[in-house]
Amino acid sequence: MATLSAMAQDIPSIIVPQAGVSAHPFEMRQVSLSNSRWLDNQNRTLNYLKFVDVDRLLYNFRTTHRLSTNGARANGGWDAPDFPFRSHTQGHFLTAWAHCYAVLRDSTCQQRATYFIAELAKCQSNNNVAGFSRGYLSGFPESEFSALEAGKLSNGNVPYYAVHKTMAGLLDAWRIIGDTKARDVLLALAGWVDGRTGKLSSNQMQTMLGTEFGGMNDVLANIYQLTGDKRWLTVAQRFDHAAVFNPLASNQDQLNGLHANTQVPKWIGASREYTATGTKRYLDIASNAWDFTVGAHTYAIGGNSQAEHFRPPNAIAGYLNKDTAEQCNTYNMLKLTRDLWAMNPSATKYFDFYERALINHLLGAQNPSDSHGHITYFTPLNPGGRRGVGPAWGGGTWSTDYESFWCCQGTALETNTKLMDSIYWHNDTSLYVNLFTSSTLNWSQRDVKITQTTTYPISDTTTLQVTGTGQWNMLIRIPAWTSAAEMRVNGQPANVAAEPGTYAVLARTWQPGDEVTIKLPMNLRTVPANDNPNIAALAYGPVVLSGNYGSSSLSSPPTLALDSVRKVSGDGLVFTGMADGREVGLGPFYEAQGFNYNVYWAVRGRLG
Ligand SMILES: [Zn+2]
Repeated sequence: MATLSAMAQDIPSIIVPQAGVSAHPFEMRQVSLSNSRWLDNQNRTLNYLKFVDVDRLLYNFRTTHRLSTNGARANGGWDAPDFPFRSHTQGHFLTAWAHCYAVLRDSTCQQRATYFIAELAKCQSNNNVAGFSRGYLSGFPESEFSALEAGKLSNGNVPYYAVHKTMAGLLDAWRIIGDTKARDVLLALAGWVDGRTGKLSSNQMQTMLGTEFGGMNDVLANIYQLTGDKRWLTVAQRFDHAAVFNPLASNQDQLNGLHANTQVPKWIGASREYTATGTKRYLDIASNAWDFTVGAHTYAIGGNSQAEHFRPPNAIAGYLNKDTAEQCNTYNMLKLTRDLWAMNPSATKYFDFYERALINHLLGAQNPSDSHGHITYFTPLNPGGRRGVGPAWGGGTWSTDYESFWCCQGTALETNTKLMDSIYWHNDTSLYVNLFTSSTLNWSQRDVKITQTTTYPISDTTTLQVTGTGQWNMLIRIPAWTSAAEMRVNGQPANVAAEPGTYAVLARTWQPGDEVTIKLPMNLRTVPANDNPNIAALAYGPVVLSGNYGSSSLSSPPTLALDSVRKVSGDGLVFTGMADGREVGLGPFYEAQGFNYNVYWAVRGRLG
C-alpha cells in the first residue's frame, strides 16, 4: 500500500482556468461528520463497501475481456451476466471507496479501490485477446457500440451510460486518492471514446445521443480540466445533445415526456463545459434546466419524475404515485446545484434546495434498520405510500447485497459517503456555511478549525466554534423558510443583517474560542402542489412532515384540518393533526420507515 505522502503527491489539480467559479469546496478529508443521522447513513454504507465481494464485482469485466473470474460467483439484478448494461454499477463503488479513503483514511477501502483498478487495467490490457479496440473497458462486448452506432441496438442496452460510470469512478480514484493507474486506465478508455466517436458524422453522433449516455460530456470536460489537453474538450463537446440543449438555451421548458435521469447528467456536463470554456450558452442551458426542474417538476421532498419521466410543467398533484422521485435524479440535481451555486454564491436558492432534497429525499431513501444501508429506488408519494415498495424488478423491496445493483443503489453509495462535501465552502476572503449538521472543518490553509454542534433540524439552533486567528468573513445561509434569524457571537447579538433568503456576513478578526450561535426559527408551513393549491405537503422549517398510517391503505389524499396541527413535544419533531375527522400522528418524512405514510394532503383552513 502506498504511503499517504506518496499518494498525496499524485493527486492532480485543475490546471485549466475555471470560468465563473467564485467559491470552492474543501477537500473531502478536511471535513468530518459528528454524531447525526448523516453519520449513521455513512456508517451503514461503509459497512457494505467493506463487505461486498470485490471479485464478484469484477466478474463481468473479466469474462468480457477473457480473463479468469477467479472462481467468483456472478451477481444478480442489474449486474447479472445477461443484463444488457451490466458493469454500470462498479464505477460507483470506486467513487465511494475513494470517498471513504479521503474522509476516514480507511485503508480497506483504499486497498479495494487499488485492487479493483489494477484488475481493470489487466482487463484493458487483454483487449487483443478479446478482440476489442485499444483502450476499451466494459462488462459487455464492444459489438454493442457497433450496434448502437448502426441504430440496431434492440436489447435495452445504454452502452455509454455504463462506460460513463466506469470513467467517473476511475476519475474519482485518480483525483481523490491519487491512484495513477486509475488515470492511465481512464485516459486509455477516453482515447477509445475519441477513436470511436471521432469517426462519426455529427448527424450520426446526434442520432446516437438519443440513447442514454450519462454524463459523458461531464467526465470528459473534467479530464480536460485536469490534463489541460484540449483533445478531451473536443470529445466532451461531441456529446452536446442538441435536441435537449437547444430548447434549454432558448429558455423553453420542453422536458415533458423525457426520461428524467437521462437529462440531468447532460446538464452537469453543460455546467462543466461552461467552466472549461466560458461559453455562456452552456451556463444558460444548465441554469435554465435547474430553474425549470426545481420550479416546475419537483415535489415537496426535492425529488422529481414519475415512472422515471418528467411530466408537464407544474404537474405535481396529478402524479402522486408509487413510482415518484427516482433517487438518481436527486443525486444528480445536487451535483448540478453545487456547480451553479459555486458560480453564483450569493444566491441562497441553491442550497435551500440542496438542504430540502438531501434531508427529505436522500437521507430517508436509505433503510435505517439495515446495517448495509440498502435503499429504495423510488420514494412513493401516493396516499398511504411506503418506502421500499416497488419497482417490480426489485422484488418490491429494498436493494440487496448481490441481487439488485440498480442505478439508484449505485448513486446512493456515493451520496452516503460524501455527505460532508457541501457543508463548508471558501474563497479568498470568506468561509461559507451552507448546511447545518454536526461536523468539523479543518481549514488548514488558514490554520483554522471550525466545529459545528447541533441536532438540527430537530433543534433550530447551531453553534460554530472557531479555533485559530485571522481576518476573514463567515457567510451563513439564512434559509428562505425561516423568520427572524438570530445571530450571536460569544453570546452577544451580532448586529448583522440576517434576512431570510440571504447570506448573513460576519466580518471579523477571529480569536481562538470565538463562538457563533445561529438560531433559525422554524414554523409550520404548507408546500402547495403547483397544479392544485388545495393539495399540499406540510413542512416545519426544512423538514417535510408526513402522517403515520400504520398498515392502513389510502385511496386518496386525506383531508387535513390545518388549524388542528400541533407540535406535541418541546424537543422532538412530533406533531398531531385531524385528518378525515381522525387524529393522525405527524413526524419527519425522512424518518417515516416501516409504515404507510401520507405526504400530500387535501388541506382545509389555515395553520394556527
Ligand atoms: Zn436510479
